[in-house]
Amino acid sequence: MQPDLIIRGANLPDGREGVDILVADGIVQVVGPHIPAEGRREIEAHGRLVTPPFVDCHFHMDATLSLGLPRLNRSGTLLEGIQLWGELKPLLTHEAVVDRALAYCDMAAAQGIQAIRSHVDVCDDRLVGVEALLDVKRRVAPYLTLQLVAFPQDGFYRYPTARQNLLRALDLGVDVVGGIPHFERTMADGARSVAELCEIAADRGLQVDMHCDETDDPLSRHIETLACETQRLGLSGRVAGSHLTSMHSMDNYYVSKLLPLIAEAGVSAIANPLINITIQGRHDTYPKRRGLTRVAEMWSHGIPVALGQDCVMDPWYSLGSGDMLEVAHMAVHVGQLTSLDAMRRCFEAVTAVPAGILGLEGYGLDPGCRADMVILEARDPVEAIRLRAARLFVLRAGEVVAQSPPRVATLDLPGRPGAVAFTR
Ligand SMILES: [Zn+2]
Repeated sequence: MQPDLIIRGANLPDGREGVDILVADGIVQVVGPHIPAEGRREIEAHGRLVTPPFVDCHFHMDATLSLGLPRLNRSGTLLEGIQLWGELKPLLTHEAVVDRALAYCDMAAAQGIQAIRSHVDVCDDRLVGVEALLDVKRRVAPYLTLQLVAFPQDGFYRYPTARQNLLRALDLGVDVVGGIPHFERTMADGARSVAELCEIAADRGLQVDMHCDETDDPLSRHIETLACETQRLGLSGRVAGSHLTSMHSMDNYYVSKLLPLIAEAGVSAIANPLINITIQGRHDTYPKRRGLTRVAEMWSHGIPVALGQDCVMDPWYSLGSGDMLEVAHMAVHVGQLTSLDAMRRCFEAVTAVPAGILGLEGYGLDPGCRADMVILEARDPVEAIRLRAARLFVLRAGEVVAQSPPRVATLDLPGRPGAVAFTR
């Protein structure tokens, strides 16, 4: 039988070069050099990088593309962003949230993202965002896996109906239990919220992903409780701590005890470098802290670290375009992750690592995986990050769902070529 598709001459993220990928029935069937078959469609990769799709494991799709509604964030702080979002929330409608989310998903699909974990605010008795994003989840399912986290933005204890709304959201089909311990009234309430939310997840057999210690306060140590509760409740491998920015400012001795605890508990970390570098350190004069959590140090303890985008054009961040290579690029700079190995790990932190955190099935380029992939205008992961490379082809289950032209600049200079190549 003739295969549906063969991609010729691909470089893979693991370093293999010039391999062919044979696809039939939406599944990768064979990966190897010079496959002697003829596909119904053939795409010549010419030594470009073919990667499984990007995965954004931390996003807020209920707020995306709302920039300027009802006003802009003047201080640039997390707290003004939360206040501004609180002003917008009563004005939200189902249709407006769906429209903005679908517009963002178009952008994400074109950028080669095929799975997103989005937090959705449950501190709204109408649950407008929850119902809208459940609707969006069904509509985008053919081309994008959307996983939703019930997120008590205004505090699980601090907002009077947060608990009942969170449980309602889970009953409606929201997938993951969220939290925001550093926004509760006291450290003790924060710790208690972590314990209770982990219990809810354990009872229901769900994953946990909390905004955790998104502050510059070195004494914000809720990640310690999150690791402890993960171990106590047997949730190992099902819990992620998002942001963990306080770790940037923590005492080094304390961190030397903390990192092994996180590793032992099997908790993953999700850093959001675009947002962390923008929002943290706002109360500093100089020197200004960067706020990014300790990525390389967590790697050295075997803790999985993924990188998320968090925000695109919303109350917290005015920029963004669904570009996970931009996210990795920022991590390289802010975390000084500039060795070749560290840069490759940053690429994995926007592909394979978050795919593991989300528990995506059939992810990858091995035979038997679903034929979801992106052909980038770059030879390898490091060049992809350097150029924030064009997504020449985006495939879902072997079908092309998006294409972008290569980056070309023409030149009119004496004695020089007529065009410039950015790839090397
Ligand atoms: Zn977030």
